[in-house]
Amino acid sequence: MSDAWLADRMAFFDSSGIRKVFDLASKMTNPINLSIGQPDFDVPEEVRQAAVDAIQSRKNGYSVTQGMPVLREKLQAQLTAEYGHADRQVFVTSGTSGGLVLAMLALVNPGDEVILFDPCFVSYESLVRLAGGTCVLIDTYPDFRIDLNRVRDSITPRTKAILFNSPGNPTGVTATESEIRELAELCAEKNVALISDEIYAKFCYDEPLISPAKYNPRTLVVDGFSKAYGMPGWRVGFAHGPSEVIQAMTKLQQYTFVCAPQPLQWAGAAALDVDMTPHIDAYRRKRNRICEALSECFNLVRPGGAFYAYPQVPWGTGTEFVTAAIEKQLLIIPGKIFSRRDTHFRLSYAADDATIERGIEVLRALARR
Ligand code: PMP
Repeated sequence: MSDAWLADRMAFFDSSGIRKVFDLASKMTNPINLSIGQPDFDVPEEVRQAAVDAIQSRKNGYSVTQGMPVLREKLQAQLTAEYGHADRQVFVTSGTSGGLVLAMLALVNPGDEVILFDPCFVSYESLVRLAGGTCVLIDTYPDFRIDLNRVRDSITPRTKAILFNSPGNPTGVTATESEIRELAELCAEKNVALISDEIYAKFCYDEPLISPAKYNPRTLVVDGFSKAYGMPGWRVGFAHGPSEVIQAMTKLQQYTFVCAPQPLQWAGAAALDVDMTPHIDAYRRKRNRICEALSECFNLVRPGGAFYAYPQVPWGTGTEFVTAAIEKQLLIIPGKIFSRRDTHFRLSYAADDATIERGIEVLRALARR
């Protein structure tokens, strides 16, 4: 194998930063791990049972490309009831990541611009570039709010899409209803595709998520089961939006992911009947505890959702601070993984309370250093 074999597009992917933290974690004996972007609760019992039943009853073949009717029809009924849009279709994807990849490939031409909000989820920039697009980053520091005037000023004749995520990774910040409405209306006015990543929709602690689809019926939503039901390894997600976009994405799925694993689609259908409120309530308490414990020593924007907090470092760069934390066995992620700035760090409170308390203790001591 030779580097000469690798396509130029491989330069768009650099996972070295996050991989370094995970590699370190695997070598430590008892790390305080607040770096993980997945829930610490397991898949509910009845959902695991539905997966076992599907496997045992030989539902192991390919599913139709758009997803098993048992799941797709249930999702479609929910979405029709919620939005009442004449043209909102859903299909099942290979995780939310699968939906994001297909959205980019289906919408973005080489040279098109896609607006992202800095900081944002690690994949966004690479996926835009994979499709040949150019990222236009809007800096949202220090409060991580969306300044509509800046969005308006960033739109050019080449702008194809805006990729929006609330509650956000890495900040946990939730957009307000007026931010969401104004963004949705601006996209409709400018005929720009609005892609809303709603993977953390269930993790809203103060008020329910309002989707921009409510104000712009042509919004493309990517969503999934990974976080909401603790099943990131099962690779089940879904996307919904205008039928011509969904059909294009489904066509691409036929040639790429083929389908989400069939037995796990049956389990996904069972998951839709499970009440996850006790887990969300527990995560709200963790959010409250983190905010109360860190606000004294850190500049922290109170997160309204997801399971992340994104404090500013009190000294040095984000990378220097995270290096010092790792020396104290605390695993957190430097903000520069998600951002052009190296001034913050992401911590995930998807962890048991004892781990969170150990993490708080280390962070407070480091802040006073
Ligand atoms: N979008 C965001 C904002 C995420 O944080 C993640 C996972 N960390 C994904 C998408 C991908 O989720 P999935 O596991 O369903 O592919």
